[in-house]
Amino acid sequence: MEAIEAVEKEIEKVISKFSGVKKQSESTLDEIISVLEICSSSLYKMDSTSTIPEQQANELKNVIARCKAKLQSIGTEHRSLHATVSKVGKAIDRHFTPDYQSIAPMDVFENDKYIEILNQIISEHFYRQGMNGVAESLINESALPPEEDIHLELFADLFQMSEAILNKNLGPALEWVTQYSSELDSRNSTLEFKLRRLAYLQLLEQGVNGQAEAIAYTRAHFNKFIIKFEKEIQMLMGCLIYLGQHDFHNTPYSMLFKEELWVDGADSFIQESCEIVGVNRDSSLEIIINSGCYSLPALMNLKQIMLKNRVSSVWSERNELPIEIDLGPEYRFHSVFTCPILKLPSTEQNPPMKLKCGHVISKDAMQKLTRGLMLKCPYCPKESTVSEAKKIFF
Ligand SMILES: [Zn+2]
Repeated sequence: MEAIEAVEKEIEKVISKFSGVKKQSESTLDEIISVLEICSSSLYKMDSTSTIPEQQANELKNVIARCKAKLQSIGTEHRSLHATVSKVGKAIDRHFTPDYQSIAPMDVFENDKYIEILNQIISEHFYRQGMNGVAESLINESALPPEEDIHLELFADLFQMSEAILNKNLGPALEWVTQYSSELDSRNSTLEFKLRRLAYLQLLEQGVNGQAEAIAYTRAHFNKFIIKFEKEIQMLMGCLIYLGQHDFHNTPYSMLFKEELWVDGADSFIQESCEIVGVNRDSSLEIIINSGCYSLPALMNLKQIMLKNRVSSVWSERNELPIEIDLGPEYRFHSVFTCPILKLPSTEQNPPMKLKCGHVISKDAMQKLTRGLMLKCPYCPKESTVSEAKKIFF
């Protein structure tokens, strides 16, 4: 934050200097123009055949010299702007670390396979944003195989439905909700009620004309919600009293007609529908960038400390972080096995192994504990052979 503020301060200086110079230059230029206009009009008034009297010629020379001097001073002022601008660059260099090489393998983007994965992730992100044209151009230009990810298609459909909610078109989302009604019920979901409520309120906004349809709507769709949403339904019914008014914003039910309800409806829809059909709500790119931004300061600090204490060699495994960074429950996708003996999280090369007795340790730990063909469990301690141990998948 401090770093951003320091750069912001320099930018403010540039802006104020720019506007000062602009103001000054404009008024000087206006002055020069008006002086020159006076001179030219007095020259036009003269007979073109007669010569300019000496006194007037001298005055003209003086005027031109003054104009030149003023223009030069504008030029000097303008040049002085460069120094202020370059201070912004220096402030960025001073307060931000331009070199991330020390904590990330930058050569990763020199590998064709990784570039392909990167382009795939970016194109997937564009698809998810509904920018299909941009995604297709990227796929064509980077010669990627055409996207046939079924999850992506599913997500695109759901995303469109959620966008439609924001545009006050509930039709597609309600159709989806009806189709997945039993799944939603089993999750104790409030989504269908939220959307039905919006549809009902939309009818009320038509005024008296929408009354019959609104009442019919409640009879058709609100029965199943009576027990769970009794209070809310009572409020929805209360709105009918104010149907003849111009709008609902001056009534005790104004909170039901706020835009936030539509945003919440769209948000709940995309969240729950993604969970039900089993697709990721966030794009991989979003997840990677967010986790990166979150982890970077901690990793940079750690690197500094390691360099100071000359223990940077500890961080030799580039595929493994030297410390655990908690990204919060949102970014916790699956459980991780940490070996109770070596105190290290399992990797593909060092997977968790279940011994015959049922205790689980990492493969490396197992190999360290093996004597000949036999292995003594460090916990129970039953003996078994290495071949009896089974790899466990997390
Ligand atoms: Zn055991």
